[in-house]
Amino acid sequence: MSEEVKQESVSLYPVSAPATLKEEEVCIFGTGDLGRSLGQRLLQSGYRLVYGSRRPHSCGPIPSGAQVQSHEIAAQSTSLVFVCVHREHYDFLGTLAPQLRGKVLVDVSNNLKKNMYPEANAEYLQRLVPGAHVVKAFNTLSAWALQNGPSDANRQVYLCGNSPEAKQAVAEIATKLGFTVLDRGSLCAARELEDFPLQLFPEWRMPMRLTIGLTAFFFFYLLIRDVIYTYVDQKKDNSFRIMVSLANKVFPIVSLILLALCYLPGVIAGFLQLYRGTKYKRFPDWLDRWMLCRKQLGLIALALASLHVLYTLIIPIRYYVRFRLAQNTISQIKDNKTSPFDTTMAWRTDSYYSIGILGFGLYLLLGISSLPSVSNALSWREFSFIQSKLGYLTLLFCTFHTYLYGWDKFLRISSYKWYTPPGYMLCLVVPTLVLVLKLLLILPCVDKSLTRIRQGWEKTDPENDGKKSLLT
Ligand code: NAP
Repeated sequence: MSEEVKQESVSLYPVSAPATLKEEEVCIFGTGDLGRSLGQRLLQSGYRLVYGSRRPHSCGPIPSGAQVQSHEIAAQSTSLVFVCVHREHYDFLGTLAPQLRGKVLVDVSNNLKKNMYPEANAEYLQRLVPGAHVVKAFNTLSAWALQNGPSDANRQVYLCGNSPEAKQAVAEIATKLGFTVLDRGSLCAARELEDFPLQLFPEWRMPMRLTIGLTAFFFFYLLIRDVIYTYVDQKKDNSFRIMVSLANKVFPIVSLILLALCYLPGVIAGFLQLYRGTKYKRFPDWLDRWMLCRKQLGLIALALASLHVLYTLIIPIRYYVRFRLAQNTISQIKDNKTSPFDTTMAWRTDSYYSIGILGFGLYLLLGISSLPSVSNALSWREFSFIQSKLGYLTLLFCTFHTYLYGWDKFLRISSYKWYTPPGYMLCLVVPTLVLVLKLLLILPCVDKSLTRIRQGWEKTDPENDGKKSLLT
């Protein structure tokens, strides 16, 4: 029994003896793109390398310093083999099962789409070579990334496998190559790892869909109000407004709604905790998913707000604006009258611009503090202060900026073309709702209860199942 265990055991690289590890020989099956890139990095990191190839004498170019042998001979010389071959060609590994017994097999393969096969490639490999210790690893890195070395975006090597010793052997190699290792558990996680490279911006999908949907809705809404209505009502062609005026309305409108949507799940969660009287019950899935994409929503909102700033800056050089200004001046000269200075108007426009600038400044601060390099330098308290307190302040400023823009237009019948409210009025609904709900949450009596719940207090005492009054 003990002999059997010994035979099956994996040779471990002791952490205390890195010098011997350097001289360790590793094997790569397959001299293709990934095999070559991985081999190059292994050689650069001081490993001896032997390739196992179908055609040892006529295979493609390999990194200098490596040897090429047949699969059988190459497998004998090492205890660890990287299988850099597509899953479709794994059959030959079954015939090599005796030579691969007790060895660590690293499965790096990916598939072209999800659920292509009934089982994960690594599980299939384990079934083909039951005596080996299969570890799924390196599949999330491209050949290009391996060749160029770890960068911020490509620093992580996910791995999984059933043998802790085999995983450690692979983890040590990955660490020596400069990567950070993330252990995802047993080989059952292989399918999840194989699906990683197939995902395209998964956490951006919902925010992007929402942005596109809102942008399309407000674009057509404003097109009807600003261009089609004018054409039907006054027979005037205003279509040129699509390029700047419409864009400069749609972007801030969508930006403000997205910013409000960053904070809405937080207040919903607060009310849910108050209602349930505990923080230990899971939020519904939709709320969890919504909370997880708040950063993406915020970044898109910031990008749209920046576009609004740029569009606003070009207003004075627009032909239409310069034409209207000149026309106004000329007609005043012709009529020999001047319009008096309107202090209210001056206050209104200055406040509107000033609040907008302050709001955008805070917006930028929020965006900058979400960069990993900045957020890593902040303590958790500092980070949540900026993202929460300053976040709500940003929302308040930007909402107030929009109210100032509307001023008394809310009360004018002429604002409601074809009985539709202007776009900026519609966009105020969500931010106003968020701010009112937040205001309710920070009322001292409500805030006290919520803080207690967040510190672990529960309405139902699990000991005696008796109900406690929340406000006592
Ligand atoms: P590749 O360039 O097509 O190379 C595959 C190698 O497999 C060939 O060079 C060949 O080497 C060997 N091979 C081909 N047919 C075979 C057969 N019938 N029997 C035995 N061996 C055979 O592919 P690759 O891009 O290097 O990808 C290799 C594996 O890495 C795949 O599973 C892929 O999903 C995974 N991967 C690739 C990347 C990447 O960026 N390329 C990234 C992550 C994961 P010999 O001629 O020497 O036998």
